[in-house]
Amino acid sequence: MSKEHYVQVALDVPALPILTYKAGEGEPRVGDRCVVPLGARRELGLIVGMTSHIDIDEKKCKSYLRLINEIEPLSTHWLKFTKFAADYYQHTWGEVALANLPQFFRSKPGPRYAMSLAKLREPFKAVKVKQVPELTLNDEQARAVEVLKKHSGFGAFVLHGVTGSGKTEVYLRMMESVFKDKPQAQILFLVPEINLTPQLEGRVRSHFPDKAVVTMHSGLSQGQRAKAWLAMHEKRAQILIGTRMAIFASIPELSLVLVDEEHDLSYKAGDGIRYSARDLAVKRAQMLAIPVVLGSATPSLETWANVRVGHYNLLTLTKRAVQTAVMPQLRVIDPRHCSLIKGISTEIVEAVSDRLSRGEQCIIFLNRRGYAPVITCTSCGWLSKCPHCSTYAVYHKDRVRLICHHCGWSHAVYSRCPDCGNVDLTPMGAGTQRIEETIAHLWPEARILRIDRDSTQRKDAAEKAFASVHAGEVDILVGTQMVAKGHDFQNVTLVVVLNIDAQLVSANPRGEERAFANLMQVAGRAGRAGSRAEILVQSRFGDKLIFRALAAQDYCLFADRLLQERKDEYAAPFVSQALLTADATDIDKALEFLRLAVQQAEIIRNRYEDFAHVTVYDPIPMALMRVADRERAQLLVEADTKARLNRFLRLWYPAVVSLKSAVRWTMDVDPVDV
Ligand code: ADP
Ligand code: ZN
Ligand code: ZN
Repeated sequence: MSKEHYVQVALDVPALPILTYKAGEGEPRVGDRCVVPLGARRELGLIVGMTSHIDIDEKKCKSYLRLINEIEPLSTHWLKFTKFAADYYQHTWGEVALANLPQFFRSKPGPRYAMSLAKLREPFKAVKVKQVPELTLNDEQARAVEVLKKHSGFGAFVLHGVTGSGKTEVYLRMMESVFKDKPQAQILFLVPEINLTPQLEGRVRSHFPDKAVVTMHSGLSQGQRAKAWLAMHEKRAQILIGTRMAIFASIPELSLVLVDEEHDLSYKAGDGIRYSARDLAVKRAQMLAIPVVLGSATPSLETWANVRVGHYNLLTLTKRAVQTAVMPQLRVIDPRHCSLIKGISTEIVEAVSDRLSRGEQCIIFLNRRGYAPVITCTSCGWLSKCPHCSTYAVYHKDRVRLICHHCGWSHAVYSRCPDCGNVDLTPMGAGTQRIEETIAHLWPEARILRIDRDSTQRKDAAEKAFASVHAGEVDILVGTQMVAKGHDFQNVTLVVVLNIDAQLVSANPRGEERAFANLMQVAGRAGRAGSRAEILVQSRFGDKLIFRALAAQDYCLFADRLLQERKDEYAAPFVSQALLTADATDIDKALEFLRLAVQQAEIIRNRYEDFAHVTVYDPIPMALMRVADRERAQLLVEADTKARLNRFLRLWYPAVVSLKSAVRWTMDVDPVDV
């Protein structure tokens, strides 16, 4: 290639457009990386295009300093896909493309680059796999696999299967059929939580002994991530199991995408570029004309809406796969009309005792960690507020500290009230630690294990904890959402749910939807192997539809009703939303900035007729206004379609950038917390 050629380079810098450089040494290809001068700095860039002509002065155009082409260039598809994500989530191409490469590939090469690269290419250590006997699919499972087998091109499939219906087996057979058609195929398998990867990885490895399987999640070292990434990029591995970050992997022969537990909130990035890996999975499949399968016992309303209008194909598994397995029976117990022992109804106490006497396991689910959400002074009413947030600091008895779950502030527990000096401070309400203590009092003989974020901080702690439940070394498992997800426990016959009411009546419009998913998921841990199983929920709202739907294990009843409500209220998913959030040292500054942003929005709205269906709401302080000494406000924008919202954001976002405010702000497209 001659020297007249220019390369267009994307850099991981906010608001920076694609820059043009002269091609220096070597033969650059689109998808290679290069080191370029940027002001006084040297930056790593990604070549996203080439051209033989430029608009700027030839002399002003600098040359790249080094071409990095020791690996195959990133594919055209990968570039298009990251470009789409950048445009959709309002970031620069470079921010999305480069930030989502493993550190090794997004950094300027060091002196030992070639050696490190060779090391990344070393073969993987052989993994011992447990042989799992081959299962015969039941009719529903076979039909689901058959539909996918017969399909060609893009298609979004929703595998809606009750808990324990054997979705994993269906995924495996779907993968098998893809490999049968195309032996060199590569498959991406997204999972919500790293805690679920070991179990799944084992199943996948044992089913595909001839395929190389790699994983990608935040629990891996940078080196391990780079190694897995490169193995997919170079087609040495065929199956990638990973959390949301894996959606951006380079997978040249990608032929099938699976998204397990697609409703899970962890698919949505909570900071940085607020992408939804599930939504991007559908987009990526569409761009490649391949199938994508979204599996869940409780699909998200967005997904369900797409099923109902016929955009997604529904595959249903209505019964549990293990013949002897049963669905748990529901009992709702109103704490106002029964006797309680330390906040737990006697009915629940009896049910637990009954299971223990039969050597069966129980799960007690409570979505709140710590000992008590707040402590109070019995004399003056003082409450353990966090000094930096508009919330309470949670009492952690094991560490004898008050800890704020929002900013991390922590303080030794006071021996007397900081306001009046009274020594009588009492915990109010219960978290997992307190329930653990209560059940230890009630059943001193029982082997009790608590699983929540606090108890599983050490590396591998969660894996070990779950393994001990599987091994039958635990009688009562107490925990947060972590215990509700995915695990195929064999001997759990009772699930107890305490304290779901806060979520049922929360101001969050999605509170009920999430409560339902939580309840269905946690109920799904019981009765997997046989005999009878029960779910006991302590709630004051027993007459709500949610419990009727839960009792009947009828997701459709619940989801269809909720969808209708959303439609009537003209709410998401029937509108598309973007949320501009600002934070500053005081709320007035944040609100002031958002008001300026509203002015910009109004200017754009009035200029184009296209935006008659765009609604810009008033800025409001967030419900949890202050976090870590920053006061937060938000501004919601709605449009009737995603496409229109995106057209609007493309004009509005740069206008907000141009305000050059000192206020910190972020834009969240398709926010999940409004
Ligand atoms: P889900 O992910 O739908 O909750 P799993 O994939 O964990 O369900 O499967 C639940 C249980 O059913 C597992 O123990 C699995 O081995 C078993 N299973 C799946 N398919 C079959 C089948 N066709 N016959 C017998 N058992 C099966
Ligand atoms: Zn006091
Ligand atoms: Zn705080």
